[in-house]
Amino acid sequence: SIPLGFFGGIGASSRAGVLVKGSNYLEALTKVKKIVYDKTGTLTQGKFSVTQIVPAHNHTEDEVLLLAALAEQTSPHPIARSIVQHFSGDIKEYQVDNDKELVGLGVQVDYKDKTISVGNIKLLTELKIVPPKLDIAATMAYVVYGNEYIGALAIADTLKPDSKEALLQASELGVTEQVMLTGDSAIVGQQIADELGITVKSELLPQDKVTEVEKLKDTLAPGEKLAFVGDGLNDTPVLAQADIGIAMGALGSDAAIEAADIVLMSDEPSAIPHVIKIAMRTKKIVW
Ligand code: ADP
Ligand code: MG
Repeated sequence: SIPLGFFGGIGASSRAGVLVKGSNYLEALTKVKKIVYDKTGTLTQGKFSVTQIVPAHNHTEDEVLLLAALAEQTSPHPIARSIVQHFSGDIKEYQVDNDKELVGLGVQVDYKDKTISVGNIKLLTELKIVPPKLDIAATMAYVVYGNEYIGALAIADTLKPDSKEALLQASELGVTEQVMLTGDSAIVGQQIADELGITVKSELLPQDKVTEVEKLKDTLAPGEKLAFVGDGLNDTPVLAQADIGIAMGALGSDAAIEAADIVLMSDEPSAIPHVIKIAMRTKKIVW
């Protein structure tokens, strides 16, 4: 938890639903030149829904969905929640064990005498499984049981309504480079990036996001600052690496609140140019 004293004297921002852990971060915001955004839950809604189920030969949609739901039942990831929600059966009838969250990849659980694995293409590569080529521009959750490929679920997410406007406002406030990072596939990352007119790096693990932020920090001139904005889920290391780590809509995620320098109650991206403006106004008045 955060000592309340941290917020003393930062009244304007706290009234706007912004918790700033020290005035040095407000000052840093007045010098922000690069903003790096996480995709899922930050620029996109992070509210996924299953739009298509593609079973492998000799398997059915019901099998794909059942195995996926069993594996995802304890995961907090928005992809997991959408899969479990799509499953209409009674998940408690099935005995599973040993559930594991593979950060940036997916999940695994033991069911009967084999392991169910559900996740992205990177996870399949680790399992040495090559899925059939599916030309679907959606986030894919692949399902493997033991060593057998069972099928895939296509999962759709959409942009938040104010993402584009927030990026425009940030550039009007002097931010010269804005980049989106994602663990999602290149095809989905590029599609969202094109809609927003932003650059993107896709198929990144959490530690790759840290490396990207380090590289971008190296290109800053002295005194210039880089901010990272994420929803907190799996983003703790990269929140810590940025000059200014901003967690959005993060009430409820303790790890993110601890790792972030600034916590926005709102999950609307326009809160970011808003807090930059507050920082600039504060600077005029106080410093
Ligand atoms: P993002 O960078 O999009 O916020 P995360 O780091 O949370 O993504 O996850 C990266 C990728 O890992 C996701 O796009 C997804 O493909 C995969 N993934 C993570 N957790 C799960 C899960 N529980 N079920 C299926 N896939 C997952
Ligand atoms: Mg994320």
